Parts: sequence; structure tokens; C-alpha cells
Amino acid sequence: MPQLRELRVGQGIDIHPLVSGRRFILGGVPIPYSKGLAGHSDADALIHAIVDALLGATGQPDIGSLFPNTQKRWKDLDSREFLRIVWGKLKRQGWEVLNIDATVLAEAPKLSPHYPAMKASLAGLLGITPDRVGLKATTTEQLGFVGRKEGILASAVVLLMRG
Ligand code: MG
Repeated sequence: MPQLRELRVGQGIDIHPLVSGRRFILGGVPIPYSKGLAGHSDADALIHAIVDALLGATGQPDIGSLFPNTQKRWKDLDSREFLRIVWGKLKRQGWEVLNIDATVLAEAPKLSPHYPAMKASLAGLLGITPDRVGLKATTTEQLGFVGRKEGILASAVVLLMRG
């Protein structure tokens, strides 16, 4: 009997505040803006959402449990390292990514000029081609914390396959 392929879907959401004096890094790509994202690591909300989606798909504890912000070793860390660690582990368990799809809510900066670089960055980290990375951004029409430019929200879904 042929072994059945196993498919898993996962989703993740992350929010970080926008503050002065920090670099704005999203999807592993530095983006010019007057403010940056605040957090214990580099606060790359998009990568954090993707990491949580991967962890969710495989029923593991979330990013905050794996990399607690009380631990100095994760302070100001390049969030690509979180993704490398988590994805490396899943790869060794036989998982591959079929696709990811992400949406960022941000009133500013304008992200569309940076889509190609962000998609290439994420695809490279996951070992997939950029056409398997969906990336969109929207404002919230000036509503709420995103609309007031106090922070951004990133959400992501992933589809994994094994077997
Ligand atoms: Mg986060």
C-alpha cells in the first residue's frame, strides 16, 4: 500500500509597535522608514507570523515559548535565525513547504516596492521558489492602531507536505 502524503496547514499572527530609533525590517529585508518595529529581537513581525504558522502546522509550542523574550540570547536577534532554526528542524522531520501566503496590515511605509526582495528573502529561507510565496499589504483606512501608525500586524498561512 502506498504511503499517503500528509498535508498540514498552519497560521500565525504577530503585531509589533512602530517606534523611533529602530530599523524597520520585514521579511528579513531592511526597509527605509522614519520608524522601526520595537521588540526583543529585531521585531520582524512577518517572519514571526510565518514561524508561528510553521509551528502551528506541526502542533508545536509557539515562537514565544521556544524563544522567550526573557532570554538575552534572542535580544536584537535577526529573526531570520528563528526561521532557520524552526525550518531546519521541520525539514529534518521530512516536511516541505508547498506555499506560504502572508498579509501585512500597515498604514506606512508602503511595502509594495519591496515585495520582490521580501519574497526572495522568504523563499530563500524556506528553500522554495518565490512563486510559492504570496505577499500582500493593506492599510486599515486609518482605523485602529495600524491606522494611527502605532504598529503593524502580519498574518501568514503555510501549507506543509510530508511523504
Ligand atoms: Mg513577534
